[in-house]
Amino acid sequence: MSVCKKLIIATSNNGKLREFKQLLVPLNIEVLSLKDFPEIGEIEENGTTFVDNALIKARAAAKITGYISLADDSGLEVDYLDGLPGVTSARFAGEPKDDSRNNSKLLSLMKGLPPIKRIGRFQCVIAIVGLNKTEYIAEGSCEGFILEEERGIKGFGYDPLFYVPKYQKTFAELDLATKNKISHRGIATEKAVNILRQIFMYDSL
Ligand code: IMP
Repeated sequence: MSVCKKLIIATSNNGKLREFKQLLVPLNIEVLSLKDFPEIGEIEENGTTFVDNALIKARAAAKITGYISLADDSGLEVDYLDGLPGVTSARFAGEPKDDSRNNSKLLSLMKGLPPIKRIGRFQCVIAIVGLNKTEYIAEGSCEGFILEEERGIKGFGYDPLFYVPKYQKTFAELDLATKNKISHRGIATEKAVNILRQIFMYDSL
Protein backbone atom coordinates (compact mmCIF):
# COMPACT_ATOMS: atom_id res chain seq x y z
CA MET A 1 0.00 0.00 0.00
CA SER A 2 1.55 3.32 -1.01
CA VAL A 3 1.95 6.28 1.33
CA CYS A 4 -0.78 8.09 -0.59
CA LYS A 5 -3.34 5.45 0.36
CA LYS A 6 -3.05 6.24 4.03
CA LEU A 7 -5.38 8.60 5.80
CA ILE A 8 -4.92 9.97 9.29
CA ILE A 9 -8.05 10.72 11.25
CA ALA A 10 -7.29 13.41 13.80
CA THR A 11 -9.14 11.84 16.71
CA SER A 12 -8.36 9.56 19.61
CA ASN A 13 -12.04 9.12 20.48
CA ASN A 14 -12.69 5.36 20.20
CA GLY A 15 -16.40 5.80 19.47
CA LYS A 16 -15.79 8.18 16.57
CA LEU A 17 -12.92 6.12 15.22
CA ARG A 18 -15.04 2.95 15.14
CA GLU A 19 -17.76 4.79 13.21
CA PHE A 20 -15.33 6.42 10.76
CA LYS A 21 -13.52 3.15 10.06
CA GLN A 22 -16.78 1.45 9.12
CA LEU A 23 -17.87 4.39 6.98
CA LEU A 24 -14.54 4.54 5.10
CA VAL A 25 -14.38 0.80 4.25
CA PRO A 26 -15.44 1.46 0.61
CA LEU A 27 -12.26 3.48 0.04
CA ASN A 28 -9.99 0.50 0.76
CA ILE A 29 -7.32 2.67 2.35
CA GLU A 30 -5.27 2.34 5.52
CA VAL A 31 -6.88 4.41 8.27
CA LEU A 32 -4.62 5.71 11.02
CA SER A 33 -5.54 7.85 14.00
CA LEU A 34 -3.88 9.96 16.67
CA LYS A 35 -3.52 6.74 18.66
CA ASP A 36 -0.83 5.74 16.14
CA PHE A 37 1.02 9.00 16.86
CA PRO A 38 0.98 9.36 20.66
CA GLU A 39 3.69 12.01 20.40
CA ILE A 40 1.13 14.42 18.87
CA GLY A 41 -0.94 14.48 22.06
CA GLU A 42 -4.31 16.22 22.14
CA ILE A 43 -4.77 19.01 19.58
CA GLU A 44 -6.21 22.10 21.24
CA GLU A 45 -9.61 23.02 19.79
CA ASN A 46 -9.87 26.74 20.42
CA GLY A 47 -12.17 27.67 17.52
CA THR A 48 -15.64 29.08 18.01
CA THR A 49 -17.37 27.02 15.30
CA PHE A 50 -17.41 23.37 14.24
CA VAL A 51 -15.71 24.40 10.96
CA ASP A 52 -12.89 26.22 12.80
CA ASN A 53 -12.21 23.27 15.08
CA ALA A 54 -12.35 20.63 12.34
CA LEU A 55 -9.84 22.64 10.27
CA ILE A 56 -7.53 23.19 13.27
CA LYS A 57 -7.36 19.42 13.88
CA ALA A 58 -7.04 18.36 10.23
CA ARG A 59 -4.31 20.94 9.53
CA ALA A 60 -2.30 19.89 12.59
CA ALA A 61 -2.48 16.17 11.77
CA ALA A 62 -1.52 16.75 8.11
CA LYS A 63 1.38 18.98 9.07
CA ILE A 64 2.84 16.58 11.64
CA THR A 65 2.33 13.27 9.79
CA GLY A 66 2.56 14.32 6.14
CA TYR A 67 -0.50 12.17 5.34
CA ILE A 68 -3.82 13.21 3.89
CA SER A 69 -5.86 14.02 6.97
CA LEU A 70 -9.45 14.11 8.08
CA ALA A 71 -10.89 15.62 11.23
CA ASP A 72 -14.40 16.15 12.41
CA ASP A 73 -15.85 18.46 14.93
CA SER A 74 -19.26 17.54 16.11
CA GLY A 75 -21.69 18.16 18.86
CA LEU A 76 -25.25 18.45 20.01
CA GLU A 77 -27.26 21.66 19.65
CA VAL A 78 -30.39 22.11 21.75
CA ASP A 79 -32.78 24.89 20.67
CA TYR A 80 -34.02 25.58 24.21
CA LEU A 81 -30.38 26.11 25.29
CA ASP A 82 -29.65 28.49 22.38
CA GLY A 83 -27.50 25.90 20.65
CA LEU A 84 -25.62 24.57 23.68
CA PRO A 85 -23.77 22.28 24.30
CA GLY A 86 -22.59 23.08 20.71
CA VAL A 87 -18.83 23.32 20.29
CA THR A 88 -18.46 22.69 24.01
CA SER A 89 -20.24 19.31 23.78
CA ALA A 90 -17.24 17.20 24.81
CA ARG A 91 -16.55 19.28 27.91
CA PHE A 92 -20.05 20.53 28.71
CA ALA A 93 -19.68 19.60 32.39
CA GLY A 94 -16.06 20.80 32.57
CA GLU A 95 -12.72 19.03 32.76
CA PRO A 96 -11.92 16.21 32.57
CA LYS A 97 -14.34 15.43 29.72
CA ASP A 98 -16.84 12.86 30.83
CA ASP A 99 -19.88 11.62 28.91
CA SER A 100 -21.91 10.70 31.93
CA ARG A 101 -21.41 14.05 33.69
CA ASN A 102 -22.26 15.83 30.41
CA ASN A 103 -25.50 13.86 30.13
CA SER A 104 -26.43 14.61 33.75
CA LYS A 105 -25.84 18.33 33.23
CA LEU A 106 -27.97 18.34 30.08
CA LEU A 107 -30.78 16.48 31.86
CA SER A 108 -30.76 18.88 34.78
CA LEU A 109 -30.88 21.95 32.50
CA MET A 110 -33.88 20.48 30.68
CA LYS A 111 -35.72 19.01 33.66
CA GLY A 112 -39.51 19.09 33.27
CA LEU A 113 -39.55 20.60 29.76
CA PRO A 114 -42.33 19.40 27.43
CA PRO A 115 -41.38 17.54 24.19
CA ILE A 116 -41.75 20.68 22.04
CA LYS A 117 -38.90 22.28 23.99
CA ARG A 118 -36.70 19.20 23.75
CA ILE A 119 -35.79 19.55 20.05
CA GLY A 120 -32.12 19.30 19.12
CA ARG A 121 -29.73 18.09 16.49
CA PHE A 122 -26.32 16.58 16.15
CA GLN A 123 -24.04 18.52 13.82
CA CYS A 124 -20.88 17.27 12.19
CA VAL A 125 -18.31 19.14 10.12
CA ILE A 126 -15.53 17.17 8.47
CA ALA A 127 -12.40 18.90 7.26
CA ILE A 128 -9.99 17.19 4.88
CA VAL A 129 -6.51 18.40 4.08
CA GLY A 130 -4.96 16.91 0.92
CA LEU A 131 -1.28 16.32 0.24
CA ASN A 132 -1.07 19.64 -1.59
CA LYS A 133 -2.67 21.35 1.46
CA THR A 134 -5.96 21.91 -0.35
CA GLU A 135 -8.79 22.04 2.20
CA TYR A 136 -12.29 20.59 1.86
CA ILE A 137 -15.36 20.76 4.13
CA ALA A 138 -18.31 18.32 4.36
CA GLU A 139 -21.28 18.80 6.72
CA GLY A 140 -24.12 16.68 8.11
CA SER A 141 -26.85 16.99 10.71
CA CYS A 142 -29.50 14.78 12.33
CA GLU A 143 -32.66 16.07 14.06
CA GLY A 144 -34.13 14.52 17.19
CA PHE A 145 -35.41 15.01 20.73
CA ILE A 146 -33.61 14.99 24.06
CA LEU A 147 -35.24 12.40 26.33
CA GLU A 148 -35.83 12.83 30.07
CA GLU A 149 -33.72 9.80 30.91
CA GLU A 150 -31.07 7.67 29.25
CA ARG A 151 -32.10 4.74 27.05
CA GLY A 152 -29.79 2.15 25.48
CA ILE A 153 -26.20 1.11 25.99
CA LYS A 154 -24.64 1.37 22.52
CA GLY A 155 -22.76 4.35 21.09
CA PHE A 156 -21.10 7.08 23.11
CA GLY A 157 -21.54 10.66 24.32
CA TYR A 158 -25.13 11.93 24.28
CA ASP A 159 -26.41 8.87 22.35
CA PRO A 160 -28.58 7.50 25.21
CA LEU A 161 -30.48 10.82 25.40
CA PHE A 162 -30.91 11.45 21.66
CA TYR A 163 -34.23 10.09 20.39
CA VAL A 164 -34.90 9.67 16.66
CA PRO A 165 -38.68 9.67 16.00
CA LYS A 166 -38.42 7.77 12.69
CA TYR A 167 -36.93 4.72 14.46
CA GLN A 168 -38.59 5.33 17.85
CA LYS A 169 -35.18 4.67 19.38
CA THR A 170 -32.27 6.59 20.82
CA PHE A 171 -28.91 6.55 19.06
CA ALA A 172 -27.76 4.26 21.89
CA GLU A 173 -30.49 1.73 20.97
CA LEU A 174 -29.67 1.67 17.25
CA ASP A 175 -27.12 -0.72 15.77
CA LEU A 176 -24.06 0.98 14.33
CA ALA A 177 -25.05 0.38 10.70
CA THR A 178 -28.40 2.12 11.21
CA LYS A 179 -26.87 4.98 13.20
CA ASN A 180 -24.27 5.51 10.48
CA LYS A 181 -27.00 5.66 7.82
CA ILE A 182 -28.83 8.58 9.45
CA SER A 183 -26.33 10.25 11.74
CA HIS A 184 -24.70 13.66 11.32
CA ARG A 185 -21.35 11.89 11.00
CA GLY A 186 -22.71 9.35 8.52
CA ILE A 187 -24.14 12.08 6.27
CA ALA A 188 -21.01 14.22 6.44
CA THR A 189 -18.79 11.17 5.88
CA GLU A 190 -20.72 10.14 2.77
CA LYS A 191 -19.84 13.54 1.31
CA ALA A 192 -16.27 13.24 2.59
CA VAL A 193 -15.88 9.81 0.95
CA ASN A 194 -16.69 11.36 -2.41
CA ILE A 195 -14.08 14.04 -1.82
CA LEU A 196 -11.51 11.44 -0.69
CA ARG A 197 -12.22 9.27 -3.76
CA GLN A 198 -11.15 12.16 -5.93
CA ILE A 199 -8.16 12.93 -3.73
CA PHE A 200 -6.96 9.34 -3.80
CA MET A 201 -7.78 9.27 -7.52
CA TYR A 202 -9.99 6.21 -7.28
CA ASP A 203 -11.68 5.79 -10.60
CA SER A 204 -13.20 2.36 -10.43
CA LEU A 205 -15.01 1.93 -7.09
P1 IMP B 1 -15.37 16.68 19.41
O1 IMP B 1 -14.44 15.54 19.63
O2 IMP B 1 -14.84 18.00 19.81
O3 IMP B 1 -15.98 16.66 18.04
O4 IMP B 1 -16.52 16.44 20.47
C1 IMP B 1 -17.72 15.95 20.11
C2 IMP B 1 -18.55 15.70 21.34
O5 IMP B 1 -19.90 15.84 20.91
C3 IMP B 1 -18.40 14.27 21.85
O6 IMP B 1 -17.50 14.16 22.90
C4 IMP B 1 -19.81 13.96 22.31
O7 IMP B 1 -20.02 14.49 23.59
C5 IMP B 1 -20.67 14.74 21.33
N1 IMP B 1 -21.00 13.93 20.13
C6 IMP B 1 -20.58 14.10 18.85
N2 IMP B 1 -21.07 13.13 18.04
C7 IMP B 1 -21.80 12.34 18.84
C8 IMP B 1 -22.53 11.16 18.57
O8 IMP B 1 -22.63 10.61 17.44
N3 IMP B 1 -23.15 10.62 19.63
C9 IMP B 1 -23.10 11.16 20.88
N4 IMP B 1 -22.40 12.24 21.18
C10 IMP B 1 -21.75 12.84 20.16
